[in-house]
Formats: sequence, structure tokens, C-alpha cells
Amino acid sequence: MGEQVIRRLMDPSQDDAAYIRQVAEVKRAVELWSMDPGFAPRFREDPVAALAEQGLSVDVLSVQILTSNELATKYNAGDREKIPLAARRYHAFIREKRADRDRMAREECVPTHPAFRAWRGRQLNRCWAELGTRNEALIHVPLTFELDLGCSVGCPFCGIAAPRLEKVARYDDETRALWRGILEYTKETIGPAAGSGTCYYATEPFDNPDYEKFTEDYYEVFGVVPQITTAAAMRRPERTRAYLEKTMPKYRRIHRFSVLSLDIMRRIFDYFTMEELLFIELLPQFPEAPFCRFANAGRARSGELKTAPESEGGTICCLSGFVVNLAERSIRMITPCGASAEHPTGEQIIARETFADLADFRRVLDGMMGRYMAAEFPKAQPLFLRPGLSFEATEEGIAFSRPGTMRLKFRGQDDLPARLYQEVLEKLREGGKSALDIAGALLDETGASPAHVFYLLKKFEIAGLFLEPYESEGN
Ligand code: SF4
Repeated sequence: MGEQVIRRLMDPSQDDAAYIRQVAEVKRAVELWSMDPGFAPRFREDPVAALAEQGLSVDVLSVQILTSNELATKYNAGDREKIPLAARRYHAFIREKRADRDRMAREECVPTHPAFRAWRGRQLNRCWAELGTRNEALIHVPLTFELDLGCSVGCPFCGIAAPRLEKVARYDDETRALWRGILEYTKETIGPAAGSGTCYYATEPFDNPDYEKFTEDYYEVFGVVPQITTAAAMRRPERTRAYLEKTMPKYRRIHRFSVLSLDIMRRIFDYFTMEELLFIELLPQFPEAPFCRFANAGRARSGELKTAPESEGGTICCLSGFVVNLAERSIRMITPCGASAEHPTGEQIIARETFADLADFRRVLDGMMGRYMAAEFPKAQPLFLRPGLSFEATEEGIAFSRPGTMRLKFRGQDDLPARLYQEVLEKLREGGKSALDIAGALLDETGASPAHVFYLLKKFEIAGLFLEPYESEGN
């Protein structure tokens, strides 16, 4: 074992075989706990035998702490130094992954295009009020690609209700030229954040026989191997392994396998080594798995599956931007929302258009950005507060909330007293008044400085509290 107590596992220069093996074993024990209904009872009955039967030499206390909230609280509160090294290292790996995800949302996914950046920021902030803590897991990628039309897997829980596989884009000369052109144009327009997405969305990456070739181009343009989530890891496991063996040394990242049955889980464990699976999150997606809970979105809404309550913001959409479908030659502009009868897939679909060639792609993309992505709302734009939010005056200012999510507070201070927030809110509640109308009215009624009123309204705008101009058209 190397001397370092905690290493960064996402940094290949810190690799240590024994360290990797130890964390991989803990991960395997946690996965068995979350996916195999027989493991937890066996572990409770005879923990040493349960681990040995799975070929694990990790200590029992590490697994107990990681699978019991009560024990975790006890050790974290008082006996931190007694937490075994294996559990501490596993925790450090989880923290590392979370930090990477948060950095993506904060930095890597942020477009350089000013109007796109402002629009994405408003959607991300809107989702805090609408989806609550569910928003933590959504990185609001600005651009993602689909190489096929539809998906061959047909999962009964599919959160985006992917249709049946109809068509795949093949890597021929014409499509390659179009693909390279799209990658280069989006990088030029959106910035490096154009490479923060994936080459699948309502599709299965391995449905496309040329997935590897398309993603090599992606790597050449963006310097990034796009993340995969596959439900077909065991369809041709040698292909999955070859893909990981080729890409992980040049770009280490977390990929995901959807595990659709206990049998598939066992086959994955038999085929891949624990070390190979260290950077693969295994998602329990079958009802017998103790930790399976489908998002209440898409096909899961209409089935008899065990889903999370609607109040938890059912959506698996992690995009605020564009989905470019290469097989169909289409662009969709979408952003997450809680799944509902109006938006069953937990996506607000703002626009969809097809394109014929690269010139047309540029026209359609530029057109959508120009039409829907305001860098800021014009001062004469009628403003409408988002429906479904409650507003209240507080001693300090005002608070916005939505049942079951979170309370967003604005506090008055110095030049911007609580009273001014409340007066602005009163005007906004009347609906359809522009920033100019509100500033003018408050100047006449209370002598409030228009600059202060504009500043407050800008804060609300950035927080995503107003309907976007395209949402309030016709109001
Ligand atoms: S969940 Fe993924 S693999 Fe399953 S049907 Fe939907 S897109 Fe396809």
C-alpha cells in the first residue's frame, strides 16, 4: 500500500494498485447492498462469510458504516478517527466525484456566448425553485448529441420515453464532414462548453455501430471523451471493454452502466474486474433491487413501477440547451422541469427544427439562439412572475417558495431596504408591467430611485423568477 492516506482517483498520476483495489472492493460491497436483494440479509447474518463469498477482503466495519445511517452518524459525530481507512477512502472518492460534477455545472458547462450563458443561468436558477435538491444532480449541459433516432432497449421506466430505434447515422464521408462541421461550429459559437455533453440522450450509445468513430472526432475537436451511460454494456461486452480500454488512458472519467436485472448485474461482475468497474457507476434499474427508485417521468409515469414522488421533481433531463440529432438532422431546444401531464418527460421543449446540411444547421442554431436566448430582458418587456411560486413579505425583505422544494429569500440592506423589495413585488404581482412601468410608478408614488428598482428586478430575472419572453407571449 502506498503511503498516501487519501489519493485523487480521477488523477492517473496518483494511481496505486493496492489503493485502487481497496476502494473498488468497498464499491463492490456497496453495489451488492444496493442491487442484490439477498446480500444485505446474508451480511447481517454473517458479515465475514458474506464478504468472503463475494471474493472481498475489505473489513466488515467499513461496509457497516457505509450501509447504516445510524452507524455513519455515530462515527462521524464522535469517532471519526476510528473510521477504517477503506471507508474513508471510499468517501473521499465520492466527494471527488461530487466536486467534479459541481465544477462541471459551475464552469465547464457555461457557454461563452453571452445570451446563451445568461439564459442557461436563468434555467439553472429556476430549477432550484422548481425541482429543489433534485437540481443538484443536473449539470445543465448546453449541448448534447444523438447519433440515432430512437433506442433499441425500450426500458419500461425510460424517463424521456425514447421511441423505438428507427435509424442510425453511419460514419460515411458525407456524414463525417457534416459531423466535423457541426462540432467545429458549435465550439466556435458556444465555446469549449459545447464539449461538455454526451453523444447519447434519448438513445443508447452502443446502438450505433460507428459510435467509436464519431467520438474520436469529438475527442479531436474538444479534447474530451464524452461520458457514456449504456444499458447495453453486456450486449457485446468485448466492445464495451475495448472502448473503455482505449479511452480511459487518454481521458479518465466516470461512465455509467444501467443494470436492468439481477442476472445482468451478475454477468457484469463476472466479466469485468473490480478495478475496471471502479470508474463505472452501476445504476440499479430493476424493481427487485433494494435501491431502485425510478424518476417519476416518461414511461415510468404510466407504468406500475416504484417511482419517486412527483414532489421530488421527476426529471432525468440534465440539459439546458440543444439536442442535435445527427440521424434525423434535427435540433431540439430543451430545459428540465418537473414531469407533469403537460410535460410528461420532465423536459420543457422550447423549439424543434430540422436541417438539411451544415449551412442550414448554422442557420437553425443561430436562429434559435437569437429568438429564445435573451442576454437580458428589455426594460420595456412585460414581466410575469412564474406561476406556482408563492411570495411573501418577510421582516427582512421577501421570500419565494414552492411547496416541497425550497425557500428563496431576498434580504434588504442599506440603499435597498426590505420595503423596496416588497413594493417592487406588489407591482410585479399585478402582472404584465415592464421594468420601466414599475420604476416610473414607484418614482411617482414613493420617490424610489429607478436605478435601485432596475437592480432589484435584475436580481429576480437572474434568479429565474420571471417567465421568459417566449413563455409569456400572448399573455
Ligand atoms: S432509458 Fe436509455 S436505454 Fe432505456 S429506453 Fe431510455 S434511452 Fe433507451
